[in-house]
Amino acid sequence: MDDAFLKPYNPAETEQRIYELWEQSGMFNPDNLPDAETRKPYTIVMPPPNANGDLHAGHALFITLEDILIRYKRMQGYRALWIPGADHAGFETQVVYEKKLEKEGRSRFKMQPKELYDEIYAFTLENKKNMEEQMRKLGASCDWSREKFTLDGDIVQRVQDTFIKMYEDNLVYRGKRTVNWCPKHQTSLSDVETVGMEETAPLYYFKYGPFTIATARPETKFGDKYVVMHPDDVRYKKWKHGQQINLEWINGPITATVIKDEAIDPEFGTGVMTITPWHDVTDFEIAKRHNLPFEQIIDWRGKLMPVAKEFEGMKILSARPEIIKKLTEKGLVVKIDEQYQHVAKRCYKCNTFIEPQVKDQWFVKMASLAQMALEAVNEKQVRFIPDNYEKIFRYWMENTLDWNISRQIVWGIPIPAWFKNRGTDKEESVVSHTRPEGDEWESDTDTFDTWFSSGQWPLLVTGYPDGKDYTTYYPTDVMETGNDLIFKWIPRMIIFGLYLGKKVPFHTVYLHGLVNDAHGKKMSKSKGNVISPITITEKYGTDALRMALVVGNTPGTNLSLNPDKVKGYKHFSNKLWNITRFILERTQEVDDDIILNEKDASIWEEMRAHTTEVTKHMENFSIHLAAEKLYHFTWHRLADEIIEESKPILEENNADTARSRSALLRRMLDQTLRLLHPFMPFITEEIWQKMKHKKEPMLMSAQWINTMETE
Ligand SMILES: [Zn+2]
Repeated sequence: MDDAFLKPYNPAETEQRIYELWEQSGMFNPDNLPDAETRKPYTIVMPPPNANGDLHAGHALFITLEDILIRYKRMQGYRALWIPGADHAGFETQVVYEKKLEKEGRSRFKMQPKELYDEIYAFTLENKKNMEEQMRKLGASCDWSREKFTLDGDIVQRVQDTFIKMYEDNLVYRGKRTVNWCPKHQTSLSDVETVGMEETAPLYYFKYGPFTIATARPETKFGDKYVVMHPDDVRYKKWKHGQQINLEWINGPITATVIKDEAIDPEFGTGVMTITPWHDVTDFEIAKRHNLPFEQIIDWRGKLMPVAKEFEGMKILSARPEIIKKLTEKGLVVKIDEQYQHVAKRCYKCNTFIEPQVKDQWFVKMASLAQMALEAVNEKQVRFIPDNYEKIFRYWMENTLDWNISRQIVWGIPIPAWFKNRGTDKEESVVSHTRPEGDEWESDTDTFDTWFSSGQWPLLVTGYPDGKDYTTYYPTDVMETGNDLIFKWIPRMIIFGLYLGKKVPFHTVYLHGLVNDAHGKKMSKSKGNVISPITITEKYGTDALRMALVVGNTPGTNLSLNPDKVKGYKHFSNKLWNITRFILERTQEVDDDIILNEKDASIWEEMRAHTTEVTKHMENFSIHLAAEKLYHFTWHRLADEIIEESKPILEENNADTARSRSALLRRMLDQTLRLLHPFMPFITEEIWQKMKHKKEPMLMSAQWINTMETE
């Protein structure tokens, strides 16, 4: 027996050494596995973490779950490939970097775009390197030789190719549309990057000529010259569409025109509204239907424009009471309802009120693409775990709007387009990789929404359309990710997979919940309750952390991570170490093919049934049940009962009985190590190495079931 077992198990001394052994073996690359060509491929694409900080507990969870699946499949004889990556994470990273600049008393608005880009690039690469080291500590058996970054040259080129293809296929268009504008971050945002919050605000009723109009946003009303009502509203029957009225308004007399439109809700306010097409999506649609002019009232920084006359340059929230004061003095305020309940959109990062603005942006036409994704799911080409997420997926696909893919930030993949006459309504555009002829063309300064590149990720990392990996490893098998990505990311990957690759990118979507603190509270820096997975690992060992993240963690639900629970699995590591010591010290080395006696054969039968059950749980993606079963069987059956009752048997003078029991215990240890390996890779490999297996030198690439001994 190796002397090492006389000392307690020490993860700090073991883990790095074992990881190096695996990495140096080359087996993370499935093409190096024995008989790789004859193995069936099994692929998981890692959701690329945002390269803008340390790994958090959520990362540790996905790394654990995906590593368990990959190790399990590798041991089952698959050509198991796990492709790691890192995401530049456009807006997310730029927000992190802007906060850093703010702390240093700097601002991105005072920097040249190139200078800012280069700084963020260096910052991201440093974080990426750091993250890779942390993934190694967590035991990730991914193929580093295939690692991809969303800003790698070939990835950028391919993402731009997709845009050009979609433009040629008439699936991308440039349009003046209402966008969600964050005045603080100076960029448009997609709908999923905004948060709608119930708020109580005053609703103002103003006299507008012969009408009373209601509005929650008096600061947008300066330019309003169109008064709109529902065509069937009998209260306003005498007013004809197109009729003009002279009236006194905020900054003096104006001529207003009556418009009849079915978009107006007769139940809201007085059933009469004026419209501000530039700053409201419904008003924009009304204006387009009736060919009415658009005028910007609020600038990109959230300040009033010259149309506001004396209020020009004021921020809207401070201008609002002043405007009400003036309207009151003019006798134009009818009443104010203080208890108006409505949903206000805010930026998901800075909580600033979103200002709807009309802007020329690139949009993806979603209707036909979403339909394609829905059909694939209807045909069960993609399965969701847990299955209730299919409903959420459907909801998003059935209610999707055209997707704004342009962002006004430097940190991202440039949109390959050129413009002539920028800033005028007669703007020409060309979409291509190369600049068009003539000096007057300017390149688009916008970058892609980060989901435009990550949506293509399974294709991009396998080398679509002609890469060798694309032929071998695409479509992939499982997409394991956080349940909050069911609408941000999953649908986009399915859409791009079907559109470009003509196949769904994966057959199974496995969704995990949040990792909360020990009390079930969301971890946040400001609350100071963040548990760093790396700190935990250094204290209790990675294997213990992995078990704590998996046991009791049903798919789709949130998990409370209690350090005491991790400590509990540290004891389990020690238990396994002690089981090994007992078996190696107290049993004899016997031939593999020895016939077990009747009692021992029945215990071995029990072990086989246990193996079958664990395998069944793994096949059903009940990873939590497999882990729990392994824990209980190993501790409470093998250690507490079988080993205890073996002590007198091994000491008996009956050589046959002792030999049979020795063979049984050694087989049980062997099989237990195999089953536990995906969950607790470090300690199991360490034991395996010390036991010096001749036929299977590394547990990582050994077989899941010890077939020789089960025949
Ligand atoms: Zn913002």
